[in-house]
Amino acid sequence: MAISTFDLFKIGIGPSSSHTVGPMKAARTFASGLIDRDLSSRVTHVRAELYGSLALTGKGHGSDTAVILGLSGHTPEGVDVDSVPSLVEEVRSSRTLRLGGPDGPSVSFDPAVDVDFRRKESLPDHPNGMRFVALDASGVEVAAKVYYSVGGGFVVDERAAGADRIKPDDTVLPYPFSSAEELLGLCERTGMSISALMLANEGAFGRTPEQVRAELLEIWSVMRLCVRRGVMTEGTLPGGLRVPRRAHRLYRQLGGNCDERGLSAPTRVDPDPMHGSDWITLYALAVNEENAAGGRVVTAPTNGAAGIVPAVLHYYLHFSPGAGDEGVVRFMLTAAAIGILFKQNASISGAEVGCQGEVGSASSMAAAGLAEVLGGTPAQVENAAEIAMEHNLGLTCDPIGGLVQVPCIERNALASVKAISATRIALRGDGSHFVSLDKVIKTMRDTGRDMHDKYKETSRGGLAVNVIEC
Ligand code: SF4
Repeated sequence: MAISTFDLFKIGIGPSSSHTVGPMKAARTFASGLIDRDLSSRVTHVRAELYGSLALTGKGHGSDTAVILGLSGHTPEGVDVDSVPSLVEEVRSSRTLRLGGPDGPSVSFDPAVDVDFRRKESLPDHPNGMRFVALDASGVEVAAKVYYSVGGGFVVDERAAGADRIKPDDTVLPYPFSSAEELLGLCERTGMSISALMLANEGAFGRTPEQVRAELLEIWSVMRLCVRRGVMTEGTLPGGLRVPRRAHRLYRQLGGNCDERGLSAPTRVDPDPMHGSDWITLYALAVNEENAAGGRVVTAPTNGAAGIVPAVLHYYLHFSPGAGDEGVVRFMLTAAAIGILFKQNASISGAEVGCQGEVGSASSMAAAGLAEVLGGTPAQVENAAEIAMEHNLGLTCDPIGGLVQVPCIERNALASVKAISATRIALRGDGSHFVSLDKVIKTMRDTGRDMHDKYKETSRGGLAVNVIEC
């Protein structure tokens, strides 16, 4: 299975990659399949059944909205996020939708009953299972299909559940690696940096180096605009917890400035030596508040952890002499190499391994990216990634009210600071260290396996049960 940098960094919609982006993609795939197989003219009614973690936290994560949008033919990257409330309201009030897009057949779909949250049931291959059913006018099943949302917006069908991929994958990479040890070995043999090696690998997915740079900078511009919207927006987050947005107030306190491209570098010299950490917090809060509000975000590698890579990238640009676009591209390629290791050898799904798989992986990716652009050797990059993950091991997923707000938003800020500290520790050394990245990834996987299900995106344990919702 070959994973591209662009599988990990995807433009999408909040609040969750596994519970919003994944179900939206699965619903759209199901609707397109009906049209492609000429079955849509027989379909008069569609239903969606959500299982396991998707059923338990799906309401708070907007899974029902995602299903409506996907069945209506919208994509996470293409849907106009400002129009989502009216699109959904239209379906709720008419109890019908246009299957696959505005030209598709009108079919009966009442979200109140046709999105079935089966909270006590799970499908066999993953905690985030869903089943879509299409019925004809007599109520006879025309088609049905099971999908799994396996984290980071990746979706597989039941046939591919073991292989973790919808389409068979025959991509041949020039520099394949399945462990950090192999990655470091390739760097040593070729004399290439991790980012250079990743850039070469992207060629196997049909992109020239110029296209890779342009697409990564496009993704970076979406991250910057997300921070901009986050710091410019006041108010309270949706969902019922009445969590106030804090990024705007902090932006004002820090004396921030925005132009049309995003947040500008700080201009005020502050004598407080920890001043930079306030800015890092600001960047992360801005992204995660936008995510919680269902805004446009980039999975990095998931939505819940979407603030960490942009926060550390902003820190790099605003606080590192000589930082620029070339560094941004190298940062993202290096971060993706580490994300691929987590995805292949453990998991980036909170429903599978807890928050260590989301926030932990993102912190590790960001630490690696920063280490590379600050001049680290591949061994120092690997060391930075390892330190960041080591100190996120065991992190549970326990979102209050099933919303990606508490503890998720602050957690991204703290994990961003942790990533930068990890990089600084690694850059003070020579790359040799006691625990390897491969060992820490294996430990994360094993810890996730042993973790009680109530700590895996079910809102049945931890803060989710110890804090009274009001
Ligand atoms: S606790 Fe972590 S894994 Fe769970 S929803 Fe929040 S960010 Fe995602």
